[in-house]
Amino acid sequence: MHWAFVGASTIAAQHMLNAVRRQPGHIVTWIVSNSPDRVQTWAAEHDVPNATTDLQQALTDPSVGAVYISSTNEKHHAQAMAAIAAGKHVLCEKPLGMTQDEAVEMVRAAQDAGVTFGTNHHLRCSGSHRAVRELIASGRIGKVLSLRIHHAVHLPDNLQGWRINSADAGGGVIPDIVVHDADVTRFLLQEDPASVVAQMTSSGMGQGVEDSCMSVWSMPSGAMVMTHESFTHPFAGSGLEVHGTEGSIFAKGVMTQRPVGEITLVTEAGSEDVPFSDHDLYVQGVSDFVAAASGQGRPAADGPDGVKSLSVALSVREAAATGQRVNINYGGF
Ligand code: NDP
Repeated sequence: MHWAFVGASTIAAQHMLNAVRRQPGHIVTWIVSNSPDRVQTWAAEHDVPNATTDLQQALTDPSVGAVYISSTNEKHHAQAMAAIAAGKHVLCEKPLGMTQDEAVEMVRAAQDAGVTFGTNHHLRCSGSHRAVRELIASGRIGKVLSLRIHHAVHLPDNLQGWRINSADAGGGVIPDIVVHDADVTRFLLQEDPASVVAQMTSSGMGQGVEDSCMSVWSMPSGAMVMTHESFTHPFAGSGLEVHGTEGSIFAKGVMTQRPVGEITLVTEAGSEDVPFSDHDLYVQGVSDFVAAASGQGRPAADGPDGVKSLSVALSVREAAATGQRVNINYGGF
């Protein structure tokens, strides 16, 4: 299958080109950007044969079967709608859009057009998160009481652009990282958060957008979820803990793009290290997506998953802005 990449971005260069090229028979044939200079440079640096600033030029290439969108967040909706209208399968970066309405429209359009739509939530593709999910699902920790996610990191210098200074481009730690934590929570606990309380702040990096957030989510089962996201914490490390009536899971260093970290299961029987696969997260995500596009299974995270992670994040922002508990509405999904 031939792919058009929309967005001359860091994530495309660092992870997604490789992830597509690792799928047998898959080639990235187009790069689309808004900048005539950047698109030519990007194409040359990454050995992509066609470069354009005209999305329609790539979309009218009949050999293109799939479109991967990794532009800034405010562009996702229009680009995805155009790709869907052209009959292409779409793998879109998180957050799917700026608003829930945008995300719902994209996902419904893909359903109506009969094309595969995936959301690029990489964490649920990792061996570590899949191992934690399996421990929970197989009852190793009994009834889940709580989940704590530590996702306060230091935003690398090269990414300190629109994420920290442009609300119009979808900046802020909530659309950037809370969406991932919402997806992780849904993936691990297999239920959707019902309501949230939250606080957000700017702690030195954010200019007009929040760079740090803490929130508490109520789950329908009664479990409590606590999450912490930030761009300003160079030494905090990342991880998650799941605590149940029969045991606790400590997954250290696993909120990352790389297949690293450690998982420990603690029960009455003692403490044990839990092994997990060290496959590339993005290769796995694209592999699941292309299988779905050929009629086998579903994307690791599909369209409704993307709507739901955005719905949680927007509710967190509303709760933080108003100081009120927010009941989450999932836009019909
Ligand atoms: P980048 O800032 O690297 O790129 C985003 C856009 O900014 C590009 O599409 C490009 O626009 C423009 N741009 C790139 N370089 C420059 C530059 N030097 N000067 C001016 N503009 C530039 O963003 P990321 O790769 O970090 O993120 C892109 C998307 O991917 C976001 O939606 C983000 O949320 C998501 N993401 C997802 C991750 C995941 O693991 N799922 C991880 C990281 C990001 P143009 O295309 O018009 O040239």
